[in-house]
Amino acid sequence: MAKIELTRNPFIKNAIKSRYPQLAVFIVMLVGYIFAILAGLIGTPVGSHNFSIVFVWIAWWAVLILVAVPFFGRGWCAVCPIPLPGEWLQRGAVLSPPEKRPKWLNLRVPKMFRNIWLQNISFLLLALFSSVLLTTPNITGIVLAVMLFAAIGLSTIFERRAFCRYLCPVGGFIGLYSQTAPIELRIKDKQVCVKCEGKPCYNGSAAGYGCPWDVFPGGLTKNTYCGLCMECIRTCPHDNIAINLRPFSADLAKPSTRMDEAFKAFIMLGSAMIYAGVLLGPWGTLKDAAYGVGTGAWFIYAVVFLAIIFGILPGFFSLGLLKTKSNLPFKQRFASLSTALIPLGLMFWVAFSLSFVLTNASYILAALSDPLGLGWNLFGTANFAWQPMLTTILAPAQTLALVVGLIWSARTAQKSASEAGVSPLPIIFYSFVATSTMLWLLL
Ligand code: SF4
Ligand code: SF4
Ligand code: SF4
Repeated sequence: MAKIELTRNPFIKNAIKSRYPQLAVFIVMLVGYIFAILAGLIGTPVGSHNFSIVFVWIAWWAVLILVAVPFFGRGWCAVCPIPLPGEWLQRGAVLSPPEKRPKWLNLRVPKMFRNIWLQNISFLLLALFSSVLLTTPNITGIVLAVMLFAAIGLSTIFERRAFCRYLCPVGGFIGLYSQTAPIELRIKDKQVCVKCEGKPCYNGSAAGYGCPWDVFPGGLTKNTYCGLCMECIRTCPHDNIAINLRPFSADLAKPSTRMDEAFKAFIMLGSAMIYAGVLLGPWGTLKDAAYGVGTGAWFIYAVVFLAIIFGILPGFFSLGLLKTKSNLPFKQRFASLSTALIPLGLMFWVAFSLSFVLTNASYILAALSDPLGLGWNLFGTANFAWQPMLTTILAPAQTLALVVGLIWSARTAQKSASEAGVSPLPIIFYSFVATSTMLWLLL
């Protein structure tokens, strides 16, 4: 399938070039985010009746993992409110660049942190505490507030969006899976960039800011670190940037060789499987351990959680690679072939989320009418009774998602393995065993 340039359409182009449509969405999102913090802190402690739990962990999560990431990649980051207050403060403006910018420290993030290890750690921290996070409104409120203030703090110390690029626990996995999405932002003609003076897309100009994600758009080859903020479309004086529709998983044809990105794939794959066991499985002892934060059982749960992600999953994966002959160093082979786990992990999350979201979606209507659990009935739906939705199609839909993930992973493994000069069979077998385990956990 050839690429289709969406920004050829004058309506889309103008809507992106003008800052007002994006600002309108930002304001709605920011108000919703602040309301979620307040609801978490002052609303009812009953999670299933509190806006912060229902709208963040059910409604937002459903949209993010079932629609936004698979189809729009980093589309959520394009409208995410978390970095906004910090960015406005850093820029000294809400819209176009001001004549005089405020004097913040504007430091460059130290080289040792310019990777996604901190994002991996921040995601794991949330994952280990997720059972309380997903059910306790004030913990959700505190975590949302901490993310907002961390983004503000980092914006006053470091240049650009340091929080998004290096710390955000959500941004890390959106970046990983955005590589599979059928949408991309890329330059149109490399030669135009070579001759372009001043590179305003990276350095900024009167028309707009330099890339907030510290990316040179002229060198973009994958979606991982482009936050789709649209700034470079505004700053490029040569109209050399396009948003394209493209085939799914086009970026996976160029496997990454970075260990931080490879481990992100294992973290996401392992977390989806563990969540399926803890939140949907029949094992009461496991649930008690996950919910008993601070107890001895929880420490054992945390150790096993980390052992699965950093030991068992990559260990078995490596075993398959040890048997293959290649001129590539082992680390490079490991990282490159872990690309096959990206579509697999995404479809694991889709299958898990279908169950989680359809079981709990009916809480959304009740929380809409009574977001703080104070007995309001704003839209007449406050007493909507809990009931699982679409139960008859759940198991077939999950099975379909997992089978698609397995086939997608096998095709990706074939491509990565041929680049690395090794056989894809061990990786395909690994994906098959992981998929069978996930199927068993879910059904
Ligand atoms: S990286 Fe995180 S904070 Fe930044 S825009 Fe994306 S989701 Fe929002
Ligand atoms: S401003 Fe446009 S032409 Fe210049 S380097 Fe950036 S993308 Fe290329
Ligand atoms: S400026 Fe361009 S390349 Fe940088 S994050 Fe925004 S959209 Fe992506």
